[in-house]
Amino acid sequence: MSFRTASCSCGQLRIEVEGEPRGVGVCHCLACQQRTGSVFATLARFPAPFKISGTATEYVRVGDQGARFIFRFCPVCGTTVFHTEEGNDESVSVAVGAFADPSFPPPRVSVYDSRRHPWVTLPSDVKTFGEDPA
Ligand SMILES: [Zn+2]
Ligand SMILES: [Zn+2]
Repeated sequence: MSFRTASCSCGQLRIEVEGEPRGVGVCHCLACQQRTGSVFATLARFPAPFKISGTATEYVRVGDQGARFIFRFCPVCGTTVFHTEEGNDESVSVAVGAFADPSFPPPRVSVYDSRRHPWVTLPSDVKTFGEDPA
C-alpha cells in the first residue's frame, strides 16, 4: 500500500492517506475560488482510513445541494488542507496542492464549468459539468 501526506505550508497540519485517490477533480465554483484564493480548487477523494496530525480550525459550508462540508485549515498559516462531509468519515477530500507533488494523478472531472475563468483550459479528456452533478 502506498501512502501520501498532504501538509499545510507551515507543516503543522498534515493528513496521511492510503492507496490511490478514488477521484480527482477540479471545481470552479465561486465558493472554492474564495476558499482557496485561487481561481479553481483541485481535490482528491480518498477512502478511510486516513491519519490527521496537528490541529485544524473547522469551517462548515453548506453546499448548493444542502450537504454540509467541514473544511479544515491550519490555524497558524491558513492553508486549507482537507474536508469531509458532515456525518460521513468514510472518505476525505484533500487539496491536491497540499501534497506538493507535481506527479500527482491529474483531474478526471471538472465541475461548475459555468464559473470557470475563460483562460483556464483543461485536458480534453476531462469530463466537464456546468454545475455540480451530485
Ligand atoms: Zn500551517
Ligand atoms: Zn467548489
